[in-house]
Amino acid sequence: KEKNREGYMPLFDRFSAFYSRYVYRRVRDCWNYPICSVPGHEVVLKDRITRDNGWTFEFTGTKTKCLNLASYNYLGFAEATGPCAEAAISAIYKHGISTGSPRRQHGTCDLHDELEKLTAEFLGVEDAITFGMGFATNALNIPTFLSPGCLVLSDEKNHASLIVGIKLPGATVKVFKHNNVSHLEKLLKEAVYHGQPGETHKPWKKIVIFVEGVYSMEGTVCRLPEIIALKKKYKAYLYLDEAHSVGAMGKRGRGVVDYFDCDPRDIDILMGTFTKSFGAAGGYIAGSKEFITFLRRHSYASRHAWAMSPPVAAQIISVLNILMGRDGTDEGQKRIERLARNTRYFRMRLEQMGVIIHGNEDSPVVPILVYLYSKIAAMVRTLIKEKIATVGVGYPATPLTQGRIRICLSAGHTKEQLDYALEVIEKVADEIGLKYSRKARDLA
Ligand code: PMP
Repeated sequence: KEKNREGYMPLFDRFSAFYSRYVYRRVRDCWNYPICSVPGHEVVLKDRITRDNGWTFEFTGTKTKCLNLASYNYLGFAEATGPCAEAAISAIYKHGISTGSPRRQHGTCDLHDELEKLTAEFLGVEDAITFGMGFATNALNIPTFLSPGCLVLSDEKNHASLIVGIKLPGATVKVFKHNNVSHLEKLLKEAVYHGQPGETHKPWKKIVIFVEGVYSMEGTVCRLPEIIALKKKYKAYLYLDEAHSVGAMGKRGRGVVDYFDCDPRDIDILMGTFTKSFGAAGGYIAGSKEFITFLRRHSYASRHAWAMSPPVAAQIISVLNILMGRDGTDEGQKRIERLARNTRYFRMRLEQMGVIIHGNEDSPVVPILVYLYSKIAAMVRTLIKEKIATVGVGYPATPLTQGRIRICLSAGHTKEQLDYALEVIEKVADEIGLKYSRKARDLA
C-alpha cells in the first residue's frame, strides 16, 4: 500500500475509497431511514430526498407508513402494547431505567435473577447469564475462555460480533466453508491427528467450533445434528449463536436445538439475543452451572459493563412467560405457529414466482438475490414507494456481486399483508429482471 503525501498509510484501502465514493453515494438513500414509530409489523419512516449528487439528505417533512419486512420482529413482540409493555412500564417505576453499575458491583436487581432462571428453564439447561447488549455478549465473553494455544473453527458466515470475540484472545482461527460439515471434519482431522497413522496427538489446549442457528444474511439453518456428532467424535467444544433462531425456530420456539430435537446439553455454550424474537435488547449465554458461574466471575461484560436495563428485563420475562404458557393462554404457541406458517407460505410463493432466494424453507430470514448493486437500489426504492420497508444488503456484508434484499417475516404479518408484498415484489422483479429460468436457477 502506498503512503500518502504526508507519509501516512491511508486509513482505508483504495477499494474502500472507490466503493464509498462511487458506489455507496449512489445508493445510500436506501439505508438508514429514521423511523418515527414502534417498529412493529408496520413502521413509519421519515421521508427524505438525496441532494448534492448523493452526498447529502434533505428531509421533506412528510412520513410514510410501511408494511415492515425489515425488522427482526419474528414473534411480533416488538409492538408496544399488551402485558409485555405494561411489565416494562411498571419496571421503570420500580427500578428506573439504569442499574447504576455493572452486575458484579451493585447492578443486579431481582429482575435479572428471575430472567436468568427463566431463560435456563426455557432452554432446558442448568443456568444462564444475561447481558445488556447482544453484540457484547459475544465480543466480551468469548475472550474469557479462549487464549493463545486454543484452536477456533469458525463458519465463514459468522456474525461480526463472533469474529471480534474470536480474534481478541489470540487463539488460532481457521475458517470453514459455510455450513459445510465435510470441510469442518477435514479441519478437525488435521487438528487432532498428526504423526503416524492412527496416532492421536492434540497440540491444542482446546478446540472450539463456532456456528449460528440461522445465518442472518443467508437464511441458512446450521446442520446441528451433524456438527454435534463431529464435536463429540473429535472432543471439541461447540458454541452456538441462536440470535436469529431462539423463539423463531422449533415447535416450541426453543431455537434450532428444538428444531432438530437435539439435547441442549450437547451444546457446551448456548448464546442468543433478546433483540429479535423478544422485541427487547441484550443477550444471554446458557449452559452448565459450572461454566455460567465461571462467566459470572470472569466475564468482562459482568465485571465492567452496565447491566441490562430493568424495563428490558421485565419485557423479556413477560415474553418468556407467554412462550411457556404461564400466562394461562396459548398465545405464545399460536405466535410460534403463525410465524412458521407465514414463513413457509411466503417462501413457497417466491419460489413459484421464479426469483432466487436463499436459505431453509423454515427460516424467517428470506434473502432475495438481486446480484447487481444497482438492482438493490432499484428494488428498495420501488418497494418503499409502494409502502413496503425491506433491507438492501450489499458489499461488504456480502460479496460484491451477491447483493440481495433481505426480508424478515413476523407472526404479526397477516396473509393479506404478505399477499400485497408478494404482488409488489413480483411487479418489481418483472421490471428489473429478477426472474430466472429453472435452469439458470439451478446453476446459481
Ligand atoms: N449474533 C448474531 C448472529 C447477530 O445476527 C447479531 C445482530 N443481529 C448479534 C449477535 C448481535 O446482537 P444485537 O444486535 O442484539 O446486539
